Amino acid sequence: MNQAIAFKLANMITQIDAARLLIWRASWLAKNGGYKNAEGSQSKYYASEMSVRVTEDAIQILGGYGYTREYPVERWHRDAKIHTIFEGTSEIQQLVIARAISGLRVE
Ligand SMILES: Cc1cc2nc3c(=O)[nH]c(=O)nc-3n(C[C@H](O)[C@H](O)[C@H](O)COP(=O)(O)OP(=O)(O)OC[C@H]3O[C@@H](n4cnc5c(N)ncnc54)[C@H](O)[C@@H]3O)c2cc1C
Repeated sequence: MNQAIAFKLANMITQIDAARLLIWRASWLAKNGGYKNAEGSQSKYYASEMSVRVTEDAIQILGGYGYTREYPVERWHRDAKIHTIFEGTSEIQQLVIARAISGLRVE
């Protein structure tokens, strides 16, 4: 494997693990007394955006095979994108997070 692919893979798995940890924290807090700030929004925002980036990188690594419908990766990318839109868009999650950590109204 060359470095171009190796660095991409290292970034991808690191982001996937970071998202997983944010989700586990949010889930633990939800079950044990509730969120302190906007941990649920943080996990939803990060995991959604991360899955778009990571599936796009996967397509790039695989080239044409990643893009065609013959293989599942392009489908994973389309499926990832909807998470930045439904159940609170990424922009709305950012508003919730910014309000929670600042206590300020965001115009
Ligand atoms: C496949 C699919 C399934 C869905 N399933 C359901 C469902 O089961 N139940 C349900 O109730 N809804 C569902 N929805 C609707 C979904 O929740 C909405 O599409 C989503 O909330 C975004 O609303 P909108 O499409 O009206 O976009 P808009 O609200 O018009 O937003 C357009 C863009 O502007 C941004 N934006 C909007 N307001 C602000 C602001 N104040 N500050 C900064 N940026 C802003 C948004 O982030 C977005 O990028 C579904 C949508 C899709 C595509």
